[in-house]
Amino acid sequence: MDLLRKITDKDILKCALPVCIVIFFTMLIIYSSLLATEQKKRNELIKQEQLRKDAEMKVYLMGKFDPSTREDFVVVPEKYSLYNNGKMYLRKETLNAYLKMQEAAQREGVQIKISSATRNFEYQREFWNGKWSTNTEIDAIEKNTENFNRFKKILEYVSVPGTSRHHWGTEIDINGANLAYFNSIKGIREYQWLAKNAGTFGFCQTYRNKDIDKRTGYNEERWHWSYTPLSKTFTEEYRRLVTKEDIYGFIGDKYVLEQDLVNQYALSINPECL
Ligand SMILES: [Zn+2]
Repeated sequence: MDLLRKITDKDILKCALPVCIVIFFTMLIIYSSLLATEQKKRNELIKQEQLRKDAEMKVYLMGKFDPSTREDFVVVPEKYSLYNNGKMYLRKETLNAYLKMQEAAQREGVQIKISSATRNFEYQREFWNGKWSTNTEIDAIEKNTENFNRFKKILEYVSVPGTSRHHWGTEIDINGANLAYFNSIKGIREYQWLAKNAGTFGFCQTYRNKDIDKRTGYNEERWHWSYTPLSKTFTEEYRRLVTKEDIYGFIGDKYVLEQDLVNQYALSINPECL
């Protein structure tokens, strides 16, 4: 009887072992496959989250928001505004850095004030559209006519909506936007102070002389300064996310595709600001 039981146990063991091995590997395969599915789901969620963030960032970079509704923007106090013609907004960090710079300038007898700050897409769109019918500098080109020459003429001194760095809350125009003023004795002194000291406060002259920087795009603007601790990131994100196909929604937008506004204008800046 004992012998019979021993044989039976051995037989059972003999039969059970392969079954156990099969079950073990089957479980292993199922477990690995579950892990892979979980990982795939996680990767998909990460990808979706990145796409959502990118879409949000693109809306921001193209100025399609109202700065008055955002917590990261603040109103520029009137006493720092050159014209006092309505509320101006900046990113908090930009205004804080500007205030330190303004105090330092004042201590050395140089008066600086903000003439323009954040301009969103809607603002820029109205400004741009207005140029098609009102600006005397382009009267030579038939008014209200959609043609490429007119587009290029306006582009010499107005950013296409969706391509202006003023959308970002990091850009300020200081003491006007007039090159003749910056060639006056007062203007030269103010510019020289900024050129020497603005970097200490994080500001960089975005559009220097084109020949010096060997760049395309906008002419020299001695009044336009970027707050680079923020604007460097936004510049990189703009390069990564925005294409000319994204730029539309204003008069003459059909001409956008005929040129490289992203690289030759929006990203064509003083290399020291990059
Ligand atoms: Zn400007």
